[in-house]
Amino acid sequence: MIKFHKAGCDFMNLISISQHLHTEFVGRDVEYYESISSTNNRAKEIAEQKLEGTVIIAEEQTQGKGRLSRKWVSPKGKGLWFSIILKPNLEPDKVYKITLIGAAAVNEALKEMGIKSSIKWPNDIIIEGKKVCGVLTEMSCEKNRVKYVVMGIGINVNLELEDFDTELKKKATSLKVMTGKEIDRSRLLACVLNHMERLYIPFKEKGILVDTIRICKEESILIGKEVRIIKGDVERVGNVIDIDDEGQLVVEYEDSQIEKILSGEVSIRGMEGYI
Ligand code: ADP
Repeated sequence: MIKFHKAGCDFMNLISISQHLHTEFVGRDVEYYESISSTNNRAKEIAEQKLEGTVIIAEEQTQGKGRLSRKWVSPKGKGLWFSIILKPNLEPDKVYKITLIGAAAVNEALKEMGIKSSIKWPNDIIIEGKKVCGVLTEMSCEKNRVKYVVMGIGINVNLELEDFDTELKKKATSLKVMTGKEIDRSRLLACVLNHMERLYIPFKEKGILVDTIRICKEESILIGKEVRIIKGDVERVGNVIDIDDEGQLVVEYEDSQIEKILSGEVSIRGMEGYI
């Protein structure tokens, strides 16, 4: 059973979502909007009253967000723009690991639907060097404990190239553009939620992240690559050599110094372009 709160028109096919959804709690309560400022903002408004696993989904976001206050383009009816409310008993400094679970879940879901993609640690999904999905994790804490986490996932499903402006075209694409086919958004949503729960439960219950890290490593577009690591105004060049068991990116600089990077405040770029 899915509890489905619907405001506005119906494209998201509830029957199709429930046919494909095999979860215990993720996606069992869905709040649906035709248009919203940002699904993460709405999720934060209601997170305290809602059960873990509640999903907020919208056909369009008028103020979709990326990390570091960047904008996320979310045109109407073509993407999957949604947020999941989670309530892990966790210290705030471990929340970055939940972003990795989200990225791994999307990558696994695409694989299940026959689409080959890679993970750009920590929060992007890439096909042929371009971004098809981003994950934005936000949280609320109290006394060094997480009250809730809101994981926003934006997937460019059936967007056309014209949906991206000239700048964005250089680094973004959609599943439809890459596969030449229209993708069933309801099925893809259910698939992501299934993998999300499968990877999240061991982490929530026992702190186990083994599968997530394995997926993030196996499907990494960064490991073995020379990249630019950007922290604020400072940019350094390094080789990505690993993702460690804690989910940190292990980078070796030209002077052989090794640094383990936490996802938070860095941006990773290719030597020439986006990646
Ligand atoms: P980055 O991955 O570039 O480090 P973020 O994860 O914060 O940054 O994502 C925000 C950035 O993603 C924006 O600055 C913009 O360049 C790009 N972007 C915005 N909307 C989309 C979209 N629908 N698909 C792909 N990329 C997008």
